[in-house]
This record gives sequence, C-alpha cells and structure tokens, in this order.
Amino acid sequence: MKIDLHAHSTASDGTESPAELVAAAKAAGLTTIAITDHDTTAGWDEAVEAAIHEGIGLVRGIEISCSRDYRSIHLLGYLPDPDDPRLAIELARARDSRVSRMDRMVQRMADDGIPITIEEVRAQVAPGATLGRPHLADALVVSGVVPDRDEAFRDLLHDGSKYYVGHYAPDPVAAIKLVRGAGGVPVLAHPFAMRTATISDEMVQEWAAAGLGGLEAHHRDHEPADVERAIRLAERHHLVITGSSDYHGTGKLNRLGEFTTEPRQWSRIVEQSHGVKVVQP
Ligand code: AMP
Ligand code: FE
Ligand code: FE
Ligand code: ZN
Repeated sequence: MKIDLHAHSTASDGTESPAELVAAAKAAGLTTIAITDHDTTAGWDEAVEAAIHEGIGLVRGIEISCSRDYRSIHLLGYLPDPDDPRLAIELARARDSRVSRMDRMVQRMADDGIPITIEEVRAQVAPGATLGRPHLADALVVSGVVPDRDEAFRDLLHDGSKYYVGHYAPDPVAAIKLVRGAGGVPVLAHPFAMRTATISDEMVQEWAAAGLGGLEAHHRDHEPADVERAIRLAERHHLVITGSSDYHGTGKLNRLGEFTTEPRQWSRIVEQSHGVKVVQP
C-alpha cells in the first residue's frame, strides 16, 4: 500500500488536470491518491472517472484555507458530502472573495509599474478553478517579470509583500465543524511548516476538542523536530497521523509519494467518515 493524501490539480493551483494527476499517481506506484484542491470539489468528478479507468484508489478531499489572527492555516477535509449546503456555501464564499482579492493584488502591482493585467491572470486559470496567487505567479512568468513561481513568491507574492491582499477565510474551528457536519474528516495540513506561522500546542488542543481528526506530520515543509512534535501532539489528543506529498505538478518541487500515510492510520480516517465513499481500485 502506498497512500498519498494531499495533491492539487488545475481545479486549484496544481498544473495537471484531475485526470492527469490520477494517471501520474498510478505511474508513481501509488495505490491511493487524494485530490485536495484549495476550497473546491470541482475536480472530483473527472478524478473519479480517471481513477476507475486507471484502477487506483481515490480519496475525494479538499484543502480549506482558514485564518486566525492573520495567520494562514490549511485544513484538509477527507470524504465530505460536497452537497452539504453549509460546507458548499462557505467554500463558494471563499472562492468569491479570492476573485476581488486578485483584482486588488493586480491593481497594486499595476499601480507600481509592474506590467500585469487581470486578463493575463485569468488566462492561467482553468474554467471553474479556485483562483490563487500561483496563477498570478504564472502570469508574471509569461510576462517575463520573473522566471518561475518560486521567484514570484520570494520577490512579490509572499504574505509580507506590499502587494499581498488577504481573502475571506473561516476560523479553523468553524471549518472543522463544517467538515464534520458534512460527514468528512478534518486533518490539519502541514501544521508546523514555516510559511504557516506558528501553531501552538494550545491551538491543537482547542481544535482537537472541536473535532479535528488528524495531523499531517510527514510533509516536505516539516523539519524532523516538527514531525516529532506533530506525532507527540497527535498521540496526546488521539489524532490520526498522516504523511503526504502536497503535489502541485510542476508548480512546486513536491513529488507524488515522497511522503505517505500508514494504512493503519488511513483506515482510522475512513472509519470516521460518512460523507462520500473512497473510490476503490
Ligand atoms: P493563496 O491561497 O492564493 O493565498 O496562495 C497560496 C498558495 O501558494 C499555496 O497553496 C501554495 O501552494 C502556493 N505557494 C506558496 N509559496 C509557493 C512557492 N514558493 N512556489 C509555488 N507555490 C507556492
Ligand atoms: Fe497550493
Ligand atoms: Fe497547504
Ligand atoms: Zn496543499
């Protein structure tokens, strides 16, 4: 068993379509892949069809952008019912807010003499996809402003940049309850990654009490000490421990299957879910 529970497609900021992502997961020797696009389930149907065709297990998931005290926190939600109205409305609200946020970021850059238009950003986004800073990065690459996404983030798009504008994002407790309410299982994504500013032990305790199901311990953006800390906290609060790649196609260095989840841990997630089913190979 080789289980990778975190990957993005062109339904958000990955560079491969859902079908291409599933085919790449099969080619990488995975037995189970989760599609977890930011704030959307738009890639699910295409991924299901591809998984049946490829003969690979598929987990339908999402990665919800949350925020607390201006800290950006990512919450994975596995196997929720996509038609749950409260969850669907909240995801739509976040996606809508990302549109006006992008207009404002582009305006700030244009006012500062950086040659970029919203049309050029739009040209980088698949129909119906969640708009994000990586699409702005791609447009800046096409315009010759920066050589790649990484440089775009380092120079212009990072959270502390003067061009940065936030978007609507729910508090983690609200998002945890929405995922549970839709029959899904909430797992905190890369909790101690540098980018995601500090999450305290007390926050993990608070969120475990609110219904958090697991911690993504094994992840490229975690140092060995972060992994140990995640495992220690997971054991203390009886949370599932996962490991995943956070693959974004060519948009990031993360490779499919570079971190995986133990089958015993994965089955604990499945047992807790009552939204949609795992697509079996
Ligand atoms: P947003 O959700 O629009 O604020 O954009 C955040 C997304 O940017 C995250 O999901 C990351 O996948 C992506 N990201 C952050 N830093 C980088 C980077 N250095 N290179 C490529 N993608 C990045
Ligand atoms: Fe991303
Ligand atoms: Fe994330
Ligand atoms: Zn991710």
